Amino acid sequence: MSTEAYRRIPLWKNVPLEEWETYRWQMSNRIQTVEQLRQVINLTPSENAAVTRKSGRFIMGIPPYWAALMDADDPTCPIRRQAVPTEDEYKISPNDMIDPLGEDSHMPVPGLVHRYPDRVLLLVVEVCSMYCRFCTRSRVVGTTAGYSRPANIDHAVDYIRSHRKIRDVLISGGDPLTLSDDRLDDVLTKLKSIPHVEFVRIGTRNPVTCPYRITPELCNVLKKHKPVWMSTHFNHPKEVTPAAKRACGMLVDSGVPLGSQTVLMKGINDRPAIMKKLFHELLKARVRPYYIYQCDPVKGTAHFRTPIKAGLDIIEKLRGHTTGYAVPTFVVDGPGGGGKIPLMPNYVVSQKDGTWVFRNYSGKTFTYKEEQAGERPAGSAIEPSYALQQ
Ligand SMILES: *Cc1c(COP(=O)(O)O)cnc(C)c1O
Repeated sequence: MSTEAYRRIPLWKNVPLEEWETYRWQMSNRIQTVEQLRQVINLTPSENAAVTRKSGRFIMGIPPYWAALMDADDPTCPIRRQAVPTEDEYKISPNDMIDPLGEDSHMPVPGLVHRYPDRVLLLVVEVCSMYCRFCTRSRVVGTTAGYSRPANIDHAVDYIRSHRKIRDVLISGGDPLTLSDDRLDDVLTKLKSIPHVEFVRIGTRNPVTCPYRITPELCNVLKKHKPVWMSTHFNHPKEVTPAAKRACGMLVDSGVPLGSQTVLMKGINDRPAIMKKLFHELLKARVRPYYIYQCDPVKGTAHFRTPIKAGLDIIEKLRGHTTGYAVPTFVVDGPGGGGKIPLMPNYVVSQKDGTWVFRNYSGKTFTYKEEQAGERPAGSAIEPSYALQQ
């Protein structure tokens, strides 16, 4: 889409580009009602019914930037499906859970999940620029859990300060970049004042859903607190727009290494060719594909979930076939709170008495023999004469 293609949508035809490209304008013009949505896309009966439901709805919010990328006539559009509710959200599967990762039961203080010994997940806000229909934290986002209250963050900071094993703090939410630069600066300052916190990471989808949030002012805050890493979240090659690339470039130029965490979803990105294209686009934008997540069994997301085999198949078609940097780790977040469990295609054909037979990416087999105990005196170094023979 060219920069000003949004003008073809009557609702926004008079919006100057300078306004369109501001986060403030995007947030105050988010699509939250069926009347607004109808002016951008031709709604299906299922979408219409879901958006106008009277109760039990999961909040909808779509920045105009994202809405303008949606296909008005194709309800299978991957951009549209991530943002527009359908009646499928109310077809509850017996596997569905409210809190699939058991986060609420792993919170020593509100908003802080301490699952691994050396790192924590700190939820600092419960709002996002866009509400993804497959959200893993739909139980809290758009609610008033109160994570952004200063007292809440201070309790979490106290906890981190008194647990010296914590060396890495992952700030998430909601989306931490919905906080103002000053509020973010404040949170980062508090965390960086703790001597054993080696670095922080920010989990945000703003570079993808509303890239105009990335400004020189924000970059200055991030630079001030380096090292700051960032995990963003791209799911489809169509998301890698010129604006998203520009935002990622500004962050990387500011010394913020960028990773992408992709959620595997049926009909959106469950084909190896789509994932490969996405990861190639991300490398060009200097974003390293970090994880592919099996879609969590969150309530109302069964229609997005794929078989595990789909993820394994994608890794199989990437590893060896393309740049290693373009191959993320496929993980299942263990339901109930197991943490991330990596899954790999099986490359071991057999293993016996120190002889391993592997297959490579193209199916050829190779044998590797381990050194056997006793073949060489323990502790013996390589003979100098051996080195000379080389
Ligand atoms: C994902 C996650 C982390 C970070 O895991 P990494 O593998 O280090 O990226 C930390 N804590 C919780 C609770 C998480 O869900």
